[in-house]
Amino acid sequence: MQQDVIIIGGSYAGMAAALQLLRARRSVTIIDEGIRRNRFASHSHGFLGQDGVDPSEIAATARRQLTAYPTLTWIDSRAESASGKLDSFVVVTADGVSIEGRRLLFATGVKDGLPEIEGLAERWGRSVFHCPYCHGYELNEGAIAVIAASPMSIHQAQLIPEWGKVTFFTNGVVQPDADARADLERRGVTIDETPVARLEGHADVVLTDGRRVGFSGLFVATRTTPASDIAERLGCDIEETPMGLQIKATAAKETSIPGAFACGDVGRVPHSVSLAVGDGAWAGAQLHRSLVF
Ligand code: FAD
Ligand code: MG
Repeated sequence: MQQDVIIIGGSYAGMAAALQLLRARRSVTIIDEGIRRNRFASHSHGFLGQDGVDPSEIAATARRQLTAYPTLTWIDSRAESASGKLDSFVVVTADGVSIEGRRLLFATGVKDGLPEIEGLAERWGRSVFHCPYCHGYELNEGAIAVIAASPMSIHQAQLIPEWGKVTFFTNGVVQPDADARADLERRGVTIDETPVARLEGHADVVLTDGRRVGFSGLFVATRTTPASDIAERLGCDIEETPMGLQIKATAAKETSIPGAFACGDVGRVPHSVSLAVGDGAWAGAQLHRSLVF
């Protein structure tokens, strides 16, 4: 049976969109692989009413509430391909199931390109973070390291002193100019140009000159790219942002392919659960409007 909307990605953004559509009694199929971006973190912060809650619990509660609506079909699988056009899209899952839909929504999220530093990946989401609004408060104004990973790292090193005493390891990735240096110094940032050899312990930075410096937490500015290339393969335009790549969408969240929409981390910057939920709710309403008018 043809669905009104097929949603690829059933996390915060995709479910927020689904909720609006289901409450308008529209038929919605969600295809979700369940690999959320924040799966490395045990606590999610900054989402009103859910501050400090396990991010998987926030998703599980939302899913439970959605399944109460009779026009929802949920498929736990990966969407392999999307084809077709406005009013006649087809999505095929990894299990070979085909679903037809009048509209398509990509809520597929992004993945983080982590710098290749020994010991960093296993500390991601535990003592190494990218978003100070999400994880800065818990560092209790302690010593924080910012390890350069992209040109955005200078901005990160300028912002994070709001949460603690910052050491900025440029690590051969960035070279702050005189203005940036003066600004960082004004904010009390220590600049250390010795390359980082590896991370150890909770959040200890071991440098190539043999020094080992302990921190309450570390920050890296990751480059984000769509977690799935399914929208790009359909022909949706992709655009560059200061944080990486995302699906290009209008203010109404429609991509360059009429009838195909995008929301959440993959369709906006910056990124958070609150913003993904807000963007998803908006996309759901815009999808509904496009079916009505
Ligand atoms: P996601 O939550 O990433 O979900 C995308 C979903 O789409 C996944 O289930 C994925 O499997 C699915 N998917 C992708 N491609 C396909 C496909 N082809 N077929 C089927 N399914 C597919 N934000 C906060 O507000 N507070 C925090 O404390 C916080 N902590 C974070 C900690 C870490 C370590 C990281 C990396 C991020 C954190 N974030 C936090 C950011 C937050 O994770 C994202 O903003 C949020 O998850 C975006 O929601 P989304 O629905 O757009 O994407
Ligand atoms: Mg989602």
